[in-house]
Amino acid sequence: RVPVLTIDGPGGAGKGTISCLVAERLGWHLLDSGALYRLTAQAAINHDVAVDDEIALARLAEQLDVAFPIEGGRPRTMLEGDDVGQAIRTEDAGERASQVAALPLVRQALLQRQRDFCQAPGLVADGRDMGTVVFPDAPLKIFLTASADERARRRYLQLQEAGVDASLPSLLKEIQARDARDMQRSVAPLKPADDAITLDTTRLSIPEVVDRLTELLTQ
Ligand code: C5P
Repeated sequence: RVPVLTIDGPGGAGKGTISCLVAERLGWHLLDSGALYRLTAQAAINHDVAVDDEIALARLAEQLDVAFPIEGGRPRTMLEGDDVGQAIRTEDAGERASQVAALPLVRQALLQRQRDFCQAPGLVADGRDMGTVVFPDAPLKIFLTASADERARRRYLQLQEAGVDASLPSLLKEIQARDARDMQRSVAPLKPADDAITLDTTRLSIPEVVDRLTELLTQ
C-alpha cells in the first residue's frame, strides 16, 4: 500500500510550505487539495457560473482541465491552458474557494481526483479533510495549527514580500471568517481526525516543523 501523510489545518498554519518541503525531502508526490477548490472557483468565474449553483459547480469540478507542470524548478498551475498560479492565490480567491468547498456535490466531484494523487513511492496530502475523508486510512495524520494572530502575521509578511499592500487587522478578520465557515459547514468540516497528531506551530520555525514531521514518520 502506498503510504500517505495527511496534513490538515486552518489557513495560514504553514501547511503549504511544510507539505512541499516534507514531500521534497521524502521524494513523495504532493497534493495541494486547496488548489482544486480554488481552481473550481476560478473556473466558475471563467464560465460565468454563480457561486451557489451547486449542480453547475459540481460539473465544473468534475471536468476541471488542470495541469501542474514543473518548469524551471517551479510548479505552475494551469487551468484550461492558462497559468492561473497568481490569480488563485489572492484572499478573494481563497474566500470563493471556501464558498464552493461548502457544497457537498463539489466535494464529491473532487474526491476521486484527489485519491488519484496517491501514487508510489508516497503522497503528502495538504488540506482540510485529508485525514478525515479523503485518506481515512493514512498511517500518519497531522493537524497543523497556529494562533489566528500568528497566521495573520505570516500571511501579512508573505504579502509584503510579494509587494502586495495589506492590512493586518483586515487579514485577521478574513482568516477568522474563513476558519469559521470551514469549521461550521455540514460536510467535511475542518477538524482533526480522531487519530491525528496536533502540532501547534505558533512558536516553531519551518525547519523545526519539518524535522518534527520527518521524525514522526520514521517512528
Ligand atoms: O488551503 P487553501 O487556503 O488553498 O484552501 C482554500 C479553501 O478551500 C479553504 O478555505 C477550504 O474552504 C477549502 N478546502 C477544503 N478542503 C480541502 C482543502 C481546501 O474545503 N481539503
